Amino acid sequence: MKIAILALQGAFAEHEHMLHRLGIETILIREHWEDASGLIIPGGESTSMMRIMKDEGLFEPLRQAILDELPVFGTCAGLIMLDRNHLGVMDIKARRNAYGRQLGSFNTEEEFAGIGRIPMTFIRAPYIEEAGPEVEILARVDSKAVAARQKNMLVTAFHPELTDDTRIHELFLKMATTVSKEQP
Ligand code: GLN
Repeated sequence: MKIAILALQGAFAEHEHMLHRLGIETILIREHWEDASGLIIPGGESTSMMRIMKDEGLFEPLRQAILDELPVFGTCAGLIMLDRNHLGVMDIKARRNAYGRQLGSFNTEEEFAGIGRIPMTFIRAPYIEEAGPEVEILARVDSKAVAARQKNMLVTAFHPELTDDTRIHELFLKMATTVSKEQP
């Protein structure tokens, strides 16, 4: 299995290291979409990422691949990229830089549905302020939704790639395996 990582800007190298630790082959996407079993959209700066994605002609191919059920995992800015106002594939609305200046960056530990307590690193993170009926909220911090899944799409407002805990990546790899198996 090979997982694509969007590498236009931001924290793509950390996802690459995490996947290599798990023995998974990766491919960095910079100029054109190359088929893979799944896609990770990393943290970074969503406004720049959006602009570069459009400049490189990646917006439509990625949007279409995700609508065609490519498994995708968005962390932080990656969560924002998947919401109604950006790629428009997931039925969520992200609130950017949602934790104010003092809480711009923080670590905590919370329950994640189906996994248990996990460490969570937030860096000028968003939270999910609205979610449609098809969206399953997987984790909350101070009652705000910070992780969710909708069909082939998984998002976390925090950065599992910056911790030693591989369980969220393993969950995504499970999604990627299941969806590829379903394909003829
Ligand atoms: N604050 C960034 C944005 O709004 C996201 C931060 C991150 O990805 N660590 O795009």
